[in-house]
Amino acid sequence: MDNAGVSMGKEDRLCRLCPRNCGVDRSRTVGFCGMTDEIRIARAALHMWEEPCISGNAGSGTVFFSGCTLRCVFCQNYGISTLRQGTGISAERLGEIFLELQAAGAWNINLVTPGHYVPQIIRALDMARRQGLGLPVVYNTSGYERVETLKALEGYVDIYLPDFKYVSAQLSGKYSGALDYFDVASAALAEMVRQVPAALFDAAEDGRMLKGVIVRHLLLPGCLMDSKKVVRYLYETYGDRIYISLMSQYTPLPHVAQKYPELNVKVKRKSYNKLVDYALELGVANAFIQEGEAAKESFIPDFDMAGAEPEPKPELD
Ligand code: SF4
Repeated sequence: MDNAGVSMGKEDRLCRLCPRNCGVDRSRTVGFCGMTDEIRIARAALHMWEEPCISGNAGSGTVFFSGCTLRCVFCQNYGISTLRQGTGISAERLGEIFLELQAAGAWNINLVTPGHYVPQIIRALDMARRQGLGLPVVYNTSGYERVETLKALEGYVDIYLPDFKYVSAQLSGKYSGALDYFDVASAALAEMVRQVPAALFDAAEDGRMLKGVIVRHLLLPGCLMDSKKVVRYLYETYGDRIYISLMSQYTPLPHVAQKYPELNVKVKRKSYNKLVDYALELGVANAFIQEGEAAKESFIPDFDMAGAEPEPKPELD
């Protein structure tokens, strides 16, 4: 595969883009992420449900990539991460989609679960920038990223938006098949903060974020203790250099009920409030907190392939 300058080891055709380190030739087969080297996306559209400094009133120009290198059992985007719903497109078409989102008024280009397509994304961004793309680029990830791959994104990504899911190896092994999640995500976050050490907002645009790192944490049912450890780790390591987004919208999806009955419930508002109080007591000031009902299915986008057409739409007279 074409790695666009990302070194993947001795044999550049063998994919080692992420910590799964499969070493497979994705022009012929798939690795853990389930995807060949053809870009596959499930939706490219303005998205209103990110943090206010990302979505604003105009919306974030969000591209949902199919497949995933982590594949949590409770994934809220199960249809695209595990079932791999989506449409195949070229890197050139992806660059055109970025430009279409910019023309539609997007505040940024928001790449969701992009890690297994980094070389293709770099190519698409190079092409789109030559043609006038000027929006901040958001890298929206599970946090399970290889540092070497992130290094290739330096100068391409303005805002890192990683999850930080667990401290506990027992939980990360059970729910994400990644006993090393904490070590990997910690190293990845350090690299993200190295690249974007300070936040920058555009005051003229209602607080649109231009640069920065926002770390998301989704509270899972029964996991409050580990969530507190996550918040503590983030704050003690980075203080107010990063923003912490505490998320309450966990939605139990039908396929988890049988094997993981403990996840087949919504997060109690009381538990979420305890987590928020804990963060405030620690001194966390840069936080995004969700108001209202804990879990609403409306947080899960409809993966209807909107904006994901393999060819540009013809101009109407
Ligand atoms: S991107 Fe996919 S194939 Fe490549 S190492 Fe990661 S999981 Fe394996």
